[in-house]
Amino acid sequence: MNAPTFADVAAAARRIEGHARRTPVMTSRTVDAALGAKLFFKCENFQCMGAFKFRGAFNALSRLDPGSRARGVIAFSSGNHAQAVALSARLLGMESTIVMPSDAPVAKMEATRAYGAQIIPYDRYREDREEITRGLATARGLSVIPPYDHPDVIAGQGTAALELLNDTGPLDSLYVCLGGGGLLAGSALAAKALAPRCKIYGVEPEAGNDGQQSFRSGTIVHIGVPDTIADGAQTQALGRYPFEIIRRDVTDVLTASDAQLVDCMGFFAARMKMIVEPTGCLGFAAARAAGTQLAGQRVGIIVSGGNVDLGRFAQLLGSGAGASREISTAADQAR
Ligand SMILES: *Cc1c(COP(=O)(O)O)cnc(C)c1O
Repeated sequence: MNAPTFADVAAAARRIEGHARRTPVMTSRTVDAALGAKLFFKCENFQCMGAFKFRGAFNALSRLDPGSRARGVIAFSSGNHAQAVALSARLLGMESTIVMPSDAPVAKMEATRAYGAQIIPYDRYREDREEITRGLATARGLSVIPPYDHPDVIAGQGTAALELLNDTGPLDSLYVCLGGGGLLAGSALAAKALAPRCKIYGVEPEAGNDGQQSFRSGTIVHIGVPDTIADGAQTQALGRYPFEIIRRDVTDVLTASDAQLVDCMGFFAARMKMIVEPTGCLGFAAARAAGTQLAGQRVGIIVSGGNVDLGRFAQLLGSGAGASREISTAADQAR
């Protein structure tokens, strides 16, 4: 398969139109006053099923030929990709099978099943999910839909940044959450085409900076499963397709700590009335940390998703009491 280009992102945007939501771009005077910049938040927490992953999954499924469509699709994931594939399959009238760890949160299993997927549980300590997936795919003729290492998935993910830039016009910098790199690679394709001077930053959890190491060393670095609350970015390595685009088009890869993520979750909830999952806060966390370096700039932030169990959300915010006090104080002084 060929690496995706901006033309593929534009084609994906036409394909998902009327199926994916055109999510809002939000602003905050408090943030702008604190940073002396103009920030634009692309709110994929309001996307269908609660995260941008719907874009890539729907695009990839739409591209399958009729025979493959009739046989159905399979994916392995315990997170947003599972729900994205399940929902896209249902909307396109296809069968989906999701391979999920048997100890995945009940709420996630239920949500995925509610979208019509057949769930195949596996023991993540004893079994290899990729082997199980490949076995089922071969036996049943299913198409495997990977979460990030696929041209059609990357092109679909790029439509969020494409919409953002169409709404805002050129930006000086763009901050994107980074796991396996599908979202960052797609965003980079869109930004390079629509705002060539825009600096593009990937942001990953401090505890799992394989993307940063890979970007800086020029070869894909593998790490153990990182210990972080950002469960959507607990990837162990960048995908090959994303990496080629990231090393060519991205300005740098930054990191954010769990404490910074909790702080941003609190800020989004208190000031912008939004529930954002920990992973969805990565981009904003790095922009906040850049602080006055962003003064005078127009800055895009991809808020990637909002799927967090409410009990967990409350627990994290409780542990980070005082979140967003710092930034609101700065803003109050600026007023
Ligand atoms: C999957 C996911 C990411 C990371 O996306 P990649 O394409 O794997 O880099 C970020 N945020 C959320 C909410 C996700 O579900």
